[in-house]
Amino acid sequence: MNNSLLAALRNIVGAAHVLNEGDLSAFERDWRGRVNGKALAVVRPKSTLEVSQVMKLCHAEGIPIVAQGGNTGLVGGSIPDSTGRQVVLQLGRMSAIRSLDKHNLTVTVEAGCVLQLLQQKMQQEDLLFPLSLAAEGSCMIGGNLATNAGGTQVLRYGNARDLCLGLEVVTADGSVMNTLGGLRKDNTGYDLRDLFIGSEGTLGIITAATLKLYPMPKAVVSAWACASSIDQVVNLLGLAQQKMGAALTGFELMGRHGLELVAKHHPQFRVPFLDEAAEFGVLIECSDNESDSHAHAVLEGLLESAMESDLINNAVVAESLEQSQRLWDVREHLPMAQAKEGPNIKHDISLSVSRIPAFLAEAEQQLDALVPGIRPINFGHLGDGNLHYNVAGPLGSDPEEFVGQYEKAVEDCICRLVAAHGGSFSAEHGIGAFKVDKLEQYKDATALRLMKSIKQALDPMNLLNPGRVLHGSEVARLETKS
Ligand SMILES: Cc1cc2nc3c(=O)[nH]c(=O)nc-3n(C[C@H](O)[C@H](O)[C@H](O)COP(=O)(O)OP(=O)(O)OC[C@H]3O[C@@H](n4cnc5c(N)ncnc54)[C@H](O)[C@@H]3O)c2cc1C
Repeated sequence: MNNSLLAALRNIVGAAHVLNEGDLSAFERDWRGRVNGKALAVVRPKSTLEVSQVMKLCHAEGIPIVAQGGNTGLVGGSIPDSTGRQVVLQLGRMSAIRSLDKHNLTVTVEAGCVLQLLQQKMQQEDLLFPLSLAAEGSCMIGGNLATNAGGTQVLRYGNARDLCLGLEVVTADGSVMNTLGGLRKDNTGYDLRDLFIGSEGTLGIITAATLKLYPMPKAVVSAWACASSIDQVVNLLGLAQQKMGAALTGFELMGRHGLELVAKHHPQFRVPFLDEAAEFGVLIECSDNESDSHAHAVLEGLLESAMESDLINNAVVAESLEQSQRLWDVREHLPMAQAKEGPNIKHDISLSVSRIPAFLAEAEQQLDALVPGIRPINFGHLGDGNLHYNVAGPLGSDPEEFVGQYEKAVEDCICRLVAAHGGSFSAEHGIGAFKVDKLEQYKDATALRLMKSIKQALDPMNLLNPGRVLHGSEVARLETKS
């Protein structure tokens, strides 16, 4: 059966684009290298028609499909399971920018376009596509939409869902849905676009999208401030929102433990104010529609007020684009620095900003009671209430042993606390394979039941990324009920 299926797939996309031999680890291993799968084949279509034909074939043969973009997802959703029965549908060859409408401020782009490439192409047109994240050199638009990616500018422009006006999607049976009209108003029934966005390849294959663009700001300037307490930082955020309005496009929090790791593992990047006994670094980005000097004046005004109100201990405004980039290099190397230090216990949580100080105090207390000396490596997009609250063992402990022994207890502690504060255990990375149990445990029961009904309606044979987001067995049970 495999041989005839492979021959049929080759017939659709060309023999060179069906991979089933040799080293396929780039498609079968997750970005962190934590899990490996085994694909029946990796199929790389070039057009929506080819995706549709592949889907029709797999639907007829009952073959599960895992959509894959840049494979930078952090929850194990983009790789096949270990059965060797799943086809990986890798969208990288569908990378065209189909059309640009400058009056409508929209671009229509295929799913396999790398995010950074789209940003650069739009920059050449003096336009901004504002989705921005540290994986932007590899992640792809289809993956960004399938995960509803966030990143560093959500505060001003929203996440991937807010930046999308329409989608082209191939459904489980190979039909094509096209809503690429570029409309900002279209109240014609249920919003299917928003359903597919964030569905992590479990409801359909995104093949193209019409995305919102913005005029390129005249100047983008960043500042770095340090503060001793999270209360100060939360008040600084309020002050920045009040004084900067829409010019505030980034507000990133970095805890001291994480900054020390950047200084240790990436000494080429100078971490500002590390010698001062401050608990937090904050990176503030101002996007200004007037001029560079105006952006500087806005940031300097903010920081002066913050000093006077005792919200920060010290601050620096970048003098050039290059200096701004160096500050962002520190922020962007935090995940890499942690990886070099060894494994830790990761969380991607969101809370309303006002709850963050209480959450952090309680988390630190409860974790320290669990393992004295435990180190929260806390950083994230504070402006969105999104923290990457990672936890490392006490100084000198063995990272692998620590994770092996305490992962479950630490995760339970953090997830319970997040739920108690009305937050989410998955802010921007999604559910994938790793957080399916947590979804069962923490999602509103009615919402979860409706999600399962939607999955059943759109993918009754459970062929699209089975077992991701929702338990495979749960969907199978629904199937037998119908
Ligand atoms: C260093 C680093 C930093 C990161 N920072 C951020 C951050 O700041 N914010 C953030 O939100 N995420 C972040 N991520 C996570 C990741 O980059 C995003 O989730 C990204 O959007 C995934 O895009 P991708 O193309 O790599 O998708 P993949 O990893 O290939 O896939 C992710 C999921 O989407 C599905 N999928 C992929 N393409 C399609 C498609 N065309 N149609 C349907 N389903 C599809 C897959 O099946 C899978 O479930 C980071 C990751 C890394 C490694």
